[in-house]
Amino acid sequence: MKHLLQRWPFLRQLTGARADGEAAMTSHTRALRPRTADAQIARSVCPFCAVGCGQRVHHDGQRILAIDGDPESPINQGTLCPKGSASHQLLTHDRRLTRVRYRRPGGRDWEDLPLDRAMDMIADRIWDSRARNWVDERDGEPVRHTTAVAHLGGATLDNEENYLLKKLLTAGLGVVNVSNQARI
Ligand code: SF4
Repeated sequence: MKHLLQRWPFLRQLTGARADGEAAMTSHTRALRPRTADAQIARSVCPFCAVGCGQRVHHDGQRILAIDGDPESPINQGTLCPKGSASHQLLTHDRRLTRVRYRRPGGRDWEDLPLDRAMDMIADRIWDSRARNWVDERDGEPVRHTTAVAHLGGATLDNEENYLLKKLLTAGLGVVNVSNQARI
């Protein structure tokens, strides 16, 4: 009984121990382990903005368990802003959209589209706008571009995807209005 009482956190704190740390722990608390205790770590970079904070992606080989700031990154030294801290949810949030949503011109409701169909529609419209608004030269100088199409990349695109997009849009299609949300 005495032994049991000595383990009671309330009594330990009453008898002089600090009210935090060891004195406040129950046996259940002591048995707790971080959910990343057995995780492997992959180093990555937060995709959300141009600061480029280092991240540690904790995973078990199948699933991402958590993402936190990389203490070894000279940029953020282990910290992340609220956007970077929430990047785990880019993959795991139950309201993440996993289907193409489309609202047709004049329409009031969103509908699902098959991905292939959506890709064909985008390609057709870009090609048509480009053809109708192509500028070969201006003031006697060759420009060979179109300003009728613009592209805004999202923050979850990685470096390689952005590189390919820029190649396709400028060198391939002559689209000069190219930007990315991560630039802000
Ligand atoms: S969004 Fe936040 S965490 Fe991500 S790179 Fe920018 S400042 Fe860093």
